[in-house]
Amino acid sequence: MPNSTYDNNNNVPENLLTVKSRISEAANKAGRIPENIKLVAVSKNHTVELISSALLAGHRIFGENRIQETQLKWPVLIDQYPDISLHLVGSLQTNKVKDALAIFDVIETVDRPKLAQAIAREIDRSGNYPECYIEVNLGNESQKGGIFPEELEGFIALCRDDLALPICGLMCIPPSSEEPAPYFALLKKLTLRHGLLESSMGMSRDYDVAVTFGATVVRVGTEIFGERNAI
Ligand SMILES: *Cc1c(COP(=O)(O)O)cnc(C)c1O
Repeated sequence: MPNSTYDNNNNVPENLLTVKSRISEAANKAGRIPENIKLVAVSKNHTVELISSALLAGHRIFGENRIQETQLKWPVLIDQYPDISLHLVGSLQTNKVKDALAIFDVIETVDRPKLAQAIAREIDRSGNYPECYIEVNLGNESQKGGIFPEELEGFIALCRDDLALPICGLMCIPPSSEEPAPYFALLKKLTLRHGLLESSMGMSRDYDVAVTFGATVVRVGTEIFGERNAI
């Protein structure tokens, strides 16, 4: 866990306003409605104190990438703010599915059949019913999570038709060394081709580009909470 020195001079409320206005600007330029774009504030490696200032500023959608860190930080916050929506944006091991569904409202990283099957079983068992996104490894990067594009069609069929998972969209993290725009355009195209609603794409360095190319969800950490400490 990061150290939790109380910091009431942080810039989180101001940063949130800045990010939201950049989203609005990019949306307006693209002829889109800014309110149709969800901002996931990615709070991994950041303290409950910093997260609280985002909550006090009215923000309710957050992202985390590790189950254990989420279990340590979030139950007390969810008690105070029951309308929080928590997105899992990191890879999920099948043996953590039960814990993940107990705390997350949205799983953005469904990326392989074994995981999809484990989520379907846990939905049946627990009644927890998260929205699911399929993560697509658009750059075919071997070290990264995400289903490869050539396997996407079959995987969507498995998730939707065989397992009846609530798949609402696609998510991607483009290769960090390349221009993201073509990847964003491709994710949007795949989202529409498969009749899905949501495209989760864009992070601190490129969320405005993602909005231009049709993101409905952007995931922003550093621009809101500052640099992450190692934990
Ligand atoms: C950490 C993370 C983000 C946020 O990254 P920033 O560059 O800090 O905005 C977004 N998406 C995923 C999947 C992440 O792991």
